[in-house]
Amino acid sequence: MVAIELDGVRKAFDDAVALADVSLSVEEGEFFTLVGPSGCGKTTTLRTIAGLSAPTDGTVRFDGADVSDTPVEERNVGVVFQSYALFPHMTVAENVRYGLRFTDPPRGLTADERVDELLELVDLPDMGDREPDELSGGQQQRVALARALAPEPDVLLLDEPMSALDARLREQLRREIKRIQKELGVTTVYVTHDQEEALAVSDRLAVMHDGGVEQVGTPVDVYERPATEFVASFVGENNVFSGVVAGREGDELAIEVDEKAPAGHRFRVAAAEDHAVGDRVTFCVRPTKLSPDANANRVTVALDATEYLGGTTRLYGEWAGREVVLRLPEPPDGDAIIVGFDPADATVL
Ligand code: ATP
Repeated sequence: MVAIELDGVRKAFDDAVALADVSLSVEEGEFFTLVGPSGCGKTTTLRTIAGLSAPTDGTVRFDGADVSDTPVEERNVGVVFQSYALFPHMTVAENVRYGLRFTDPPRGLTADERVDELLELVDLPDMGDREPDELSGGQQQRVALARALAPEPDVLLLDEPMSALDARLREQLRREIKRIQKELGVTTVYVTHDQEEALAVSDRLAVMHDGGVEQVGTPVDVYERPATEFVASFVGENNVFSGVVAGREGDELAIEVDEKAPAGHRFRVAAAEDHAVGDRVTFCVRPTKLSPDANANRVTVALDATEYLGGTTRLYGEWAGREVVLRLPEPPDGDAIIVGFDPADATVL
């Protein structure tokens, strides 16, 4: 297994800059995810790691060695793309065996033994003689995974491998991929635009935006301590406020927000870093942290829409001219609700 490093990687096409400046490190055996909205550069980053796209500037290293100019077939990477890309005229076993076209099977196995081992691993034993069109989408993607794993790659690269599948199947398959990844210990880079999926599967993730990396961290880091406003809003729902520090008491700031709040209204927000009176700050509060039971920072939210989600209710409302999102166990009565939040539950960005 190898560690991967991208150092100042830039990728320009004739009329577009796909990657502005990407630096990140993936540890040996890690499940690392690139997540971000469409067009932010996830696929280009993955293709650069694979050796399918040469960086315009910057360096790619595997275990410290510069592989920026090493072609894909010499990098020992396995890649699974969005589309199944199985050969329709070949059986499942032949498709998996195709993964061994550049190398001998590992550990002295015969090709047949290796194919059987892989079909067992992806939970498709006895399916070797079928043709791809006799399999479901989820099964086809498992075959594609088995094919990518056939040569025992040092690095597994997965580009939205589940985007064609329905929600329930995605959840099933992502658990399966995670199990296989841990079993093999293969360094894995996974691309998705789905932030919930990224939180669910990753050891660490990089949130990308406009060809750059906004934040790298564990799912808990990124969700609980977003580094930027973009991360705060992209990863999970959030309420983001900006304003000016009007006072300071201990480790709490009093903040006058930009919204059309009632005169003299200030939010109290815990802040680890020093902020002087007059500084501009942005902070966020998760919908789950806004509660009718909180004594501090109480505001009246006029409710616009309610979505019952089974076990929880999402409420959209308005306070001081801006949208506020709440999550409550039960939908409240009436068309307004008073909620507050604990100063420690706000995150200053
Ligand atoms: P998606 O989730 O939609 O697949 P992405 O985050 O994977 O998006 P990329 O495919 O890496 O994004 O593309 C990043 C940017 O680079 C986009 O603006 C895209 O249009 C541009 N781009 C990618 N490939 C090329 C190419 N071959 N020629 C020109 N521009 C390209």
